[in-house]
Amino acid sequence: MPIYEYRCKKCGHTFEHLARTLADGAKTCPKCGARNPVKQISTFNASVAEGPGAGACSTGTCPTGTCPF
Ligand SMILES: [Zn+2]
Repeated sequence: MPIYEYRCKKCGHTFEHLARTLADGAKTCPKCGARNPVKQISTFNASVAEGPGAGACSTGTCPTGTCPF
């Protein structure tokens, strides 16, 4: 089960949420109760999630991660 990190837009509190299903997401901040906390990209996946092109290198040896291989 993946653990997602969320950040509250209202109070800035960050917290982890254990997703029991793919559709399961944190709906409220556990600290202040504000709705719709923003899901954070984990550091583990950051290089993959930066955007189109970034991390597209399948060899893992490209220094920029943007080569077409
Ligand atoms: Zn909050």
